[in-house]
Amino acid sequence: MKKLCFIAALCAALLLVGCKDEAVPRAYTGFYFDTYVTFTIYSADGSHSDREITDSCKNILGELEERLTSYGDNGVIAKINDSAASRPVSVDENTFSLLEKCIEISQKTDGAFDITLGEISRLWGFGSAQEVAEPELDKIESLAGKHNYKNITLNSENMTVQFTEDGFSLDLGAAAKGYALGLLKDEMLRLGVESAVIDFGGNIQTIGDSFPGAQSWGVSVTADDTNAPIGKLNVGETCISTSNASRRYVEYDGKRYHHIIDPNTGYPAQSDIKSVTVISADGTSSDAYSTAFFVMGSEKALALCEKLDGIDAVITLNDGSTLLSDGAEKIFTK
Ligand code: ADP
Ligand code: MG
Repeated sequence: MKKLCFIAALCAALLLVGCKDEAVPRAYTGFYFDTYVTFTIYSADGSHSDREITDSCKNILGELEERLTSYGDNGVIAKINDSAASRPVSVDENTFSLLEKCIEISQKTDGAFDITLGEISRLWGFGSAQEVAEPELDKIESLAGKHNYKNITLNSENMTVQFTEDGFSLDLGAAAKGYALGLLKDEMLRLGVESAVIDFGGNIQTIGDSFPGAQSWGVSVTADDTNAPIGKLNVGETCISTSNASRRYVEYDGKRYHHIIDPNTGYPAQSDIKSVTVISADGTSSDAYSTAFFVMGSEKALALCEKLDGIDAVITLNDGSTLLSDGAEKIFTK
């Protein structure tokens, strides 16, 4: 018996600080990558209507969804999954750079973030159109730890992707929404948006240095689906991604399995982390590292975070306590 649930509530809701009268937010929503996106525009130069801006952003998301989805007839990732085990598959420049970035994050996280978990994800019933009646645990266990990002060969001269082994597939679910944030930000800026927030399934992009009339953006951080804030991040233009076990899960015979997989076991990751929020100017990084940190546990995650440039983290442990990276100390208030 399967039940797929996802929590649509915002994991990092906005606290509106220092409101100016004229900053009346205009919010628009859409549904992509199996989750909601909300665009909240606070100010724009008037060169394009809100409708033009949001339509254009939605077009970008529609195309991206097709490009990055693991299965189907048209997308480049689906094409890779279909053929890369038997021949090199040519990809466009943007997808190639995204794959390079993902592999770099896999290397840095020692495989805690791994885009080759497609088969395991599919067997659990996450991120695929295919319904799963019951997870085949023996199959999942037999795949665990077998395939990893090292099985992907990128050829930058020919811009091709090839797998060195058969039987696995790419799943960009843990990075795609964050990646989308950068494209959406660029498009909004191009169309004259001065101040806005995009919330895409727990990944936030602020546009502009601050909430109009305020010193910064105040983004409240939550650690579970109650949406009760554990504190607030004071940030400029940046991305903030939150990963936790309550966002999305499947239930089989009354048992809950969440969607963040430990590549070593094939099972939902169990660490001392209840929830982790990552702050980075780059959305692909905030999204992917939040997933990786959740898998790694707090000690390894914080140690790595301090080594990485431009990545900060707010970690809520299972016992409810909060750990902050050095950079997060400066921008997080309870
Ligand atoms: P969260 O925002 O809660 O971290 P994401 O949606 O970003 O969740 O990523 C989870 C999705 O990514 C899963 O549905 C699965 O498709 C895939 N995934 C799960 N575990 C991993 C992992 N360790 N590395 C990379 N991708 C993963
Ligand atoms: Mg993620």
